[in-house]
Amino acid sequence: MNVLRDLPKIDKFVTLPAFFGLSNTLLTRIAKDQIEALRIRILSNKTTQIDHESLIQEVLDSYHTLLAPSLKPLINATGVILHTNMGRSLIDPEILDRASRVLCNYSNLEYNQSKGCRGERYEHVSKHLRALLGVEDVLVVNNNASAVFLVLNTFAKGKEVVVSRGELVEIGGSFRIPEVMSQSGAILHEVGATNKTKASDYANAINENTAILMKVHRSNFTIEGFSSETEYADIKTLSKEHKLIDYYDLGSGYIPTLPYNLSNDEHPISKVLEDEPNLISFSGDKLFGSVQAGIIAGKKGLIDELKKNQLLRMLRVDKITLSILEETIKAYLEERYDLIPTLKLLFTDTDELQDRAEMMRKEIGSEISDVIKTSTVMGGGTLPNKEFPTIALHIHGKATKLERYFRARDIIGRIERDMFLIDLRALESKYDQQIITAAKEFLS
Ligand SMILES: *Cc1c(COP(=O)(O)O)cnc(C)c1O
Repeated sequence: MNVLRDLPKIDKFVTLPAFFGLSNTLLTRIAKDQIEALRIRILSNKTTQIDHESLIQEVLDSYHTLLAPSLKPLINATGVILHTNMGRSLIDPEILDRASRVLCNYSNLEYNQSKGCRGERYEHVSKHLRALLGVEDVLVVNNNASAVFLVLNTFAKGKEVVVSRGELVEIGGSFRIPEVMSQSGAILHEVGATNKTKASDYANAINENTAILMKVHRSNFTIEGFSSETEYADIKTLSKEHKLIDYYDLGSGYIPTLPYNLSNDEHPISKVLEDEPNLISFSGDKLFGSVQAGIIAGKKGLIDELKKNQLLRMLRVDKITLSILEETIKAYLEERYDLIPTLKLLFTDTDELQDRAEMMRKEIGSEISDVIKTSTVMGGGTLPNKEFPTIALHIHGKATKLERYFRARDIIGRIERDMFLIDLRALESKYDQQIITAAKEFLS
């Protein structure tokens, strides 16, 4: 057991030149663990001598592995612009730069400068959002799930909310309307059938305990065939007549008319507002193209009630959200869609994508790749079953092997009919060269 005596002393070990410049505290913690593991291996005769060089290397490796980024950028070559697993909407660097002036300094987040007293955090984006949407008032919370929860809890705790059976949606994993409803304390009153709900179904459901008539956007599915849903205008008429609140959870609200006829039966916010809903809510990071947030808009009296709910303190947004959101909204007001990457990518002409794909193909080798016209979807629980054109670079070879190879290099492609595709729809051109390099390395 003499070999145990050769185990390095921790205090001396961490001062070795190989560790120069590293944090002593972190290094000591890691080295202790490694030396202890080595001691156990020696005691159980799994190791008979100490290799000091490899011990140093192991400690260095552990140190750097621990500090390697967990959250890191990926290159989205899937063609899906609002990729939920890859962070939904991108933020333009200029928007972030403008917002950083607030984030990196003290600010008037809750300070009323003209009066020299405490101010309102919700005032900031409110002015711009009211101007953009043309509504009486707005409120921003953590995400749209919070928005739904807050509205239901404020106005329908212990009361009934009428929703069509065809709209009891589940959004990506853990957001289910019936469950959110029961958590909020509201009582779900389902009406109609899965495929058809008529205005009379809503009317028949109304009783003395009804609080809200709610419509939920079918964000990630469509109902085809023998089906119909009730127009919002009819729901509105009923809510007015019975002095109830009507509320439309849009999921993904958006501002400009979308290309490729995508707006045909998926209306922009302005169109939804023509029916004058009491309240609407939508996500900040779906088609709106900003940060994660839930935007509630509608009648001032109702927004005031929401602000009085103690829950708001738990759902409230940080200055990071507010500052970036404010800059996005100002970009909308000035119609600077170039500052909203989600829209910029969606509006990019396929000819432009085609040119870039042809350029990449030339660099990689035209005998081992080709450019194809195909289609993609928006993703992120928006525009269900709607496809629109895109251009992809097809790299020849075994698709699964190529997919794995590129994925290991932070490039996430897509497999379609056994072809490995680099789809250009959600791919910013700054990454073209990186893809060319990766493809060339694969082929050599
Ligand atoms: C996406 C969505 C939500 C949840 O919004 P988040 O911003 O992801 O919390 C709620 N309702 C509908 C209809 C949605 O599409």
